[in-house]
Amino acid sequence: MPKPSHTLLKSARQLYRWVFPALIERDAQTASILQHIYPTIDWQKVRFYKGLPWFITGSFVGAIVLPATWGRRGIHVYFRNYRPDSLSNLMTTIHEGFHVLQYRDLGAGVGFLRGFMLYYLSEYLQLFFRNIKKNSRYTANRIAYEKHPMEVPAFAYEAAFTQYAIAQKGIIHTDTIPTEFIRHTCDYKPKINLLYLLMGTFITFIFMLLKPFAELCFLLIAAPIYLLGKLLAIIRL
Ligand SMILES: [Zn+2]
Repeated sequence: MPKPSHTLLKSARQLYRWVFPALIERDAQTASILQHIYPTIDWQKVRFYKGLPWFITGSFVGAIVLPATWGRRGIHVYFRNYRPDSLSNLMTTIHEGFHVLQYRDLGAGVGFLRGFMLYYLSEYLQLFFRNIKKNSRYTANRIAYEKHPMEVPAFAYEAAFTQYAIAQKGIIHTDTIPTEFIRHTCDYKPKINLLYLLMGTFITFIFMLLKPFAELCFLLIAAPIYLLGKLLAIIRL
């Protein structure tokens, strides 16, 4: 039977990692491809994490790009799994890289309140509510994702790059990548009804305020569990 101290320390660490996923290093090939195809992005400022954020762990999402909770420009990319040696992982990273480009183009903000977040959520709501009358909730959600004006170009770019990578038999040399794959801007022009824009802005604003508070609460739960575990470990329990 594991010692109580061991169980407590493990639980505290798991809770901490659930709230704050671990930072990961980009592998050299992925880093050089991203730098080459999205040359206007300062990739040093984009962080990669292993594990999804706590508020979407139960979703179908495999990777997601979100703003840093603290700061105006920081961008974080979260992966459910990160496998640097896999081609599909590279394509996912390239897709998420396109969203990073959108983040940069749509401007800085405060924490979660960024241009990308407002537009992404507003476009999603607009598509969802326009399709919910004639479809099930599941289908309306699927349409809102698949026809989303910020997802369509990201998927198109990913598909074109995948074809190129397959033609190269998975061996990509950055200096031979055709110039058509080099993207300086995302070229997104929002066309959103004011009502949905207000809804998207309001929800993002509330989330921006609540997220740090929720994370502080998780920390206040994890810290005493961790300290108790350490205390028990000292007395060898
Ligand atoms: Zn996407």
